[in-house]
Amino acid sequence: MTVSRDAAGRWFVSLLVEEKIAPLPPVGRNVGVDVGITALATLSTGEKVVNPRYERRDRRKLSKAQRALSRKAKGANNRAEARLRVARVYARIAGRRRDHLHKVTTRLVRENQVIALEDPTVRNMLKNRSPARAVSDASWRDLRGMLEYKAAWYGRTVVAVDRWFPSSRLCSVCGASQEMMPLNIREWVCPCGVVHHRDVNAARNVLAAGPAES
Ligand SMILES: [Zn+2]
Repeated sequence: MTVSRDAAGRWFVSLLVEEKIAPLPPVGRNVGVDVGITALATLSTGEKVVNPRYERRDRRKLSKAQRALSRKAKGANNRAEARLRVARVYARIAGRRRDHLHKVTTRLVRENQVIALEDPTVRNMLKNRSPARAVSDASWRDLRGMLEYKAAWYGRTVVAVDRWFPSSRLCSVCGASQEMMPLNIREWVCPCGVVHHRDVNAARNVLAAGPAES
């Protein structure tokens, strides 16, 4: 047993236990996951997993608390209080985000035998790092970590697709590759006649490539 306290002044008790987890019965469904900025994730089924609605409001509260902290003089009595307030808001945001990711990953692992993900880390490091991108990268790392250990518990497989795989530029129906696919294009029409939603198409390509990569 470990007792600890975080920067937000919250106390935690952790218990280490040994437990046998029974794998889930196998299922016939596989899924491809495209992790993005506009949606937390887009699935090859066409479903969008959105970021929680409260996130924008929480962010406003956080920047308000950070501004209040920056106005307090160093060594002032109320500075420690302002710092604690920032830590509390931040802890609530992180907790809610983690809770949301747990629900999403548990559902994906229950419903699917193979979960294919694109590895976006290197690709994104080469581009400008916007704050939204940083958050989406952090979510991706947590999402992948949770999927991997839950898959191991329940007898599922997580496959990370090559980071250079051109999932956005390929047509998931005919396989033709487009020269370019700028980020602002959300929908496109392939010469074969199929209309694609950018992220759904990418998720389908990730699913098709996933089992071949493993
Ligand atoms: Zn096509």
